[in-house]
Amino acid sequence: MSSMRSPDRLAAVRARIAAAAAADQRPAEAVRLIAVSKTFGPEHILPVLDAGHRVFGENRVQEAKAKWPQLRQRYPGTALHLIGPLQSNKARDAVLLFDAIHTVDRPKIAEAIAEAMLKQARRLELFIEVNTGEEPQKAGVLPKEAAGLLRLCREELKLDISGLMCIPPHAEPPAIHFAFLAKLAAELGLPHLSMGMSADFETAIKFGATHVRVGSEIFGPRG
Ligand SMILES: *Cc1c(COP(=O)(O)O)cnc(C)c1O
Repeated sequence: MSSMRSPDRLAAVRARIAAAAAADQRPAEAVRLIAVSKTFGPEHILPVLDAGHRVFGENRVQEAKAKWPQLRQRYPGTALHLIGPLQSNKARDAVLLFDAIHTVDRPKIAEAIAEAMLKQARRLELFIEVNTGEEPQKAGVLPKEAAGLLRLCREELKLDISGLMCIPPHAEPPAIHFAFLAKLAAELGLPHLSMGMSADFETAIKFGATHVRVGSEIFGPRG
């Protein structure tokens, strides 16, 4: 696997997504592949862009700001998803640069995003991140507070939330968390689920993932 080039690894991941979606009675297009390019420079990203891929994920605003504007000029129509934690003082930059934010997890961030979107007249796709494992060190709203945060986003801030996102605890079987997130999203009437990474994206698709975030399986191990 590691000897393969990234366009070949991308094709292999796409085939696995299509198979997992088919097993769940869904077309391959029902699952969006976000190629997570964090830590990788343009020389690693270009072959994936040249292979036709146009949806990428980054976890830091500063890093994305440094490498993506130029790449996007060469490859118009490339969508960027923020998948890492956001600080409110970076909301303006994040809204300017990204097309989607997966990590709305507290009122202060939701308010900063709403204000920046209004000022910039931009609409981003938004996900509420849920800390399904209730891990103290981890970002994400607690499951029991998700409905309240959603209500604030919708009713007070007029934000259109499209789904939920989670990163399961390392030491637990991810399936439990994917099933939990899917159930919560259904209860809240949210259609999209951002879940599944290199190690578990097929499991996530089985539980209804609409967005999978895959890094090392496409780009190779991070340094
Ligand atoms: C890094 C990262 C990924 C991708 O992880 P891989 O294991 O390399 O696929 C997915 N989601 C988030 C939130 C990440 O930070």
